[in-house]
Amino acid sequence: MTVRLLPTILVNQIAAGEVVERPASIVKELVENSIDAGATQINVVMRDGGRSFLQVQDNGNGMNRADLELGVERHATSKLPNEDLFNIQTLGFRGEALPSIGAVSRLKISSNTRGQENGWTLSVEGGNKSDLSPCVHPAGTTIEVRDLFFATPARLKFLKTSTTESNHINQVLTRLAMAHPEIGFTLKDNTRVCFNYMPQSSSDEDARLKRLGEIMGQEFTENALAVSAQSQGYQLSGFVGLPTLSRGNANFQYLFVNGRPVKDKVLAGALRAAYQDFLPRDRHPLVALFLELDPHMVDMNVHPAKTEVRFRDAGFVRGLLISSIQKALNSAGHRASTTIAQSAMQSFGTASNALPRAPASSTPTSTSYSTPASVTTIPSAHSPNLPGLSLAPTARTAAPAAAETAQIAEEEILADPQYPLGVAKTQLKQTYIVAETEKGLVIVDQHAAHERLVYEKMKQGQKDRGVARQTLLVPEVVELPEAAIEHLLQVIDDLFQFGLVLEKFGESAVLVREVPALLGQVNAKRLICDLSDELESLGQAYSLKEKVEEVCATIACHGSVRAGRQLSLEEMNALLREMEKTPHSGQCNHGRPTYVELPWNDVEKLFGRR
Ligand code: ADP
Ligand code: MG
Repeated sequence: MTVRLLPTILVNQIAAGEVVERPASIVKELVENSIDAGATQINVVMRDGGRSFLQVQDNGNGMNRADLELGVERHATSKLPNEDLFNIQTLGFRGEALPSIGAVSRLKISSNTRGQENGWTLSVEGGNKSDLSPCVHPAGTTIEVRDLFFATPARLKFLKTSTTESNHINQVLTRLAMAHPEIGFTLKDNTRVCFNYMPQSSSDEDARLKRLGEIMGQEFTENALAVSAQSQGYQLSGFVGLPTLSRGNANFQYLFVNGRPVKDKVLAGALRAAYQDFLPRDRHPLVALFLELDPHMVDMNVHPAKTEVRFRDAGFVRGLLISSIQKALNSAGHRASTTIAQSAMQSFGTASNALPRAPASSTPTSTSYSTPASVTTIPSAHSPNLPGLSLAPTARTAAPAAAETAQIAEEEILADPQYPLGVAKTQLKQTYIVAETEKGLVIVDQHAAHERLVYEKMKQGQKDRGVARQTLLVPEVVELPEAAIEHLLQVIDDLFQFGLVLEKFGESAVLVREVPALLGQVNAKRLICDLSDELESLGQAYSLKEKVEEVCATIACHGSVRAGRQLSLEEMNALLREMEKTPHSGQCNHGRPTYVELPWNDVEKLFGRR
């Protein structure tokens, strides 16, 4: 056996194995090159999921003859100016994309630099480089990739259906578009336009939010909170969605590090911690966050595809994410997302569809006597983005205590912006409180609201001095599996802080001696069983503090006014006043809204009065 150097073609094919996993990886490499080249417009065309044809066209700086010739050689790059791998300012730097792509496909590059008469073109097929020839091309670069993996057929088998591959391309390009609102992006599937994001004139926050809205939906723009933090050379910006605008999967969670889309566990963990007060574990917020930091503080070179990063101080990054997101959420007060009121409106709309159609003659006209509330005039209620539906953020500073406010006259409440939830009028199904405000109609879910109030109180009380406890007359024995007992005992001190006093009772039971006073009458056995389930399912994913807060939410749920309890008007009003001064009362601990508001404007629209 002799040791020998591998031929270049083989070396490039091996490298291609890492860089070119699928068509989308080619798009990523080529578009990153276009961005690095200062392009303001990038157009991508794909066919058969990119397998038979891919084209990336840009109006960047382009390459002259010599650059083009060298660019397709391995480890040839115009980047890495100081040969410093730990000071990476560009998206590319490894100098292996073009030769790798050329090794496994038919690659054709045409390029021209500004002010030159003609450009140059070059092709590489299965690693064999052609001669350069002159061509007509505007300033910028066009790269075409045909017959991907024709040179390495074994790899073709690993490709998925065209639809799947197209989706991957779409996602890759979308992520790059999110990070660069100043660049226009188009994607075509053969001749069909998949998207066309216009270049924004600036790259400020407004431009960014516009671009994000194009991608994540208008409802994100309406329900996003700006995040902004600076600390120790780290700069975080971007937007996070209100908890009430959540999804069943984590697809809409994006993190960019120095302009580069990355997939990193640190984001998922931080989001879970920051939103855990507001969302159950199976709901996911929508976020797009952009972190800028000294390139020396992050290693981008972990993986050839450059989607993984290694932070020097991952703990700091996590802390920064959590605290800035929480700050943004706190600033939202008890605002809930507009989408909720919108869907409420839509269901009103649907209900009215079921009404028998009024005969044409009864359509109101200026001369007829028919009432203006005729059903034929309400189509505006179906409009998906009715104005005025937003749940206005409201001042919740220093509202008087519940006891005093119970006495306040109705007119005073209606006129005072301190009381945005208005005057309670009645209770429906022993579950919903209906209140009247100056601006409209408010419907409160009493259980959801009360649960939030109890939870916030417990957290506050625990912070201040520990929670008030009440001793059970007869301590309760709760039997549980040994492992569950074990878990409970691990957090026994924290539970004490929250007013729950447990004691070990043999191998398979605990003794409940005291419970949080604000729970009132509580079924201790059920509470302990729920708690232990909760601890079990949280597992290792949570830090202790997070666990305890989660547990606190479970306790709060037990102490809350259950749906189905009759409330007096005084009790209802007291609940409204309490909500107004409690942070985050717009949603319950599980991210469901605690109230919806329907402005009179829209009520009138429903009845065709507007
Ligand atoms: P890297 O991006 O890591 O430098 P590549 O193989 O992707 O390596 O590209 C090699 C070089 O070719 C780049 O450094 C750049 O100088 C040039 N290049 C590639 N694509 C373009 C483009 N679209 N416009 C201008 N120059 C390009
Ligand atoms: Mg590159």
